Amino acid sequence: MERVYNFSAGPAMIAQSVLEKARDELVCYADKGMSVMEMSHRSSMYVDIFNQTKALLKQLMNVPDEYEILFLQGGATLQFSAVPLNLMTSGKADYVDSGNFAHLAAEEARRYGEVRIVASSREDNYTYVPALDGIRWNADADYAYITTNNTIYGTRYTAIPDTGAVPLVADASSNILSEELDVTKFGVIFAGAQKNIGPAGLCVMIIRRDLLGRQNALCPKLMNWELESKNDSMLNTPNTYGIYMAKLGFEWLRDLGGVPAIYQQNVYKANLLYDYLDNSALFTAPARRECRSLMNVTFVTGDPEKDAAFVKYAAARGLVNLKGHRSVGGMRASIYNAMPVEGVKKLVDVMKAFEKENA
Ligand SMILES: *Cc1c(COP(=O)(O)O)cnc(C)c1O
Repeated sequence: MERVYNFSAGPAMIAQSVLEKARDELVCYADKGMSVMEMSHRSSMYVDIFNQTKALLKQLMNVPDEYEILFLQGGATLQFSAVPLNLMTSGKADYVDSGNFAHLAAEEARRYGEVRIVASSREDNYTYVPALDGIRWNADADYAYITTNNTIYGTRYTAIPDTGAVPLVADASSNILSEELDVTKFGVIFAGAQKNIGPAGLCVMIIRRDLLGRQNALCPKLMNWELESKNDSMLNTPNTYGIYMAKLGFEWLRDLGGVPAIYQQNVYKANLLYDYLDNSALFTAPARRECRSLMNVTFVTGDPEKDAAFVKYAAARGLVNLKGHRSVGGMRASIYNAMPVEGVKKLVDVMKAFEKENA
């Protein structure tokens, strides 16, 4: 069967050449006589793969030496608990509530201390990201927390705030590696893999080393960043195959020209859609222009029946998973790094055809 263009928000598309490489190496990896899935995580053959994966991420994101890279499990959501458990030494943190996942992270942190929402767009259905310049961050906060891209609402921060001496923690699950991020502005960056990195089941962490060792005494061993760092993410068996798949994805991105090159392509892809949406008489984009996501493009007709008809119409033409998140309705086209330009062009063509038929 022919592959479809999959606009799923996550797990999401993986580049075809990455899948083909994985297929070719599935049964026997290089000259090892076994699948990566069958390797001991302590074996030198696997440790080589692990170290290469780490080195590739370090190179792609220009991660300075003062930062540790961890490959953990539990997805991004486990870090909603791990962040306060590892950083809340005085029991206070500042959160920006810019979307559903940001909200969930703040709610989880409340179980461990005082969470102050310093900016929020919740009352406006998260149609924009609250402005952060001029925000009064609390100097006594153990950390400040933002979500760089809001997957469900299709919004993103285009500038990273300066939180001074307070370490900035970012959930970058849905836009990591899609645009350049200056790692030095952050204390911690984490991202679930299933949007822009590879298969689900892996969470990539970038942590400034001076933030290690601040964990709560009750922090579970497997959520303890310092312990994981001392054990090179292998306190127990890591997601060995997921890490290998991330390696293939990182190599693909490197060979394409890295983050600056994919960013150009991402801007081009997003503009194809937004330009059409801005001129369409049928579809509109609810996210405010100045904070539109490059990764998740949300749009509506204003009529739930027409929305549903469009989703069906597109699926019949090989464009799948365009239904918006169940909490907001409408449509959402997730166009992560691995979505080819042709997929977005085809989507615009299909939207145009649908608009004509429904004029
Ligand atoms: C998908 C997503 C999550 C949840 O990721 P899991 O790996 O399912 O826990 C959290 N934050 C953001 C921004 C996301 O896009």
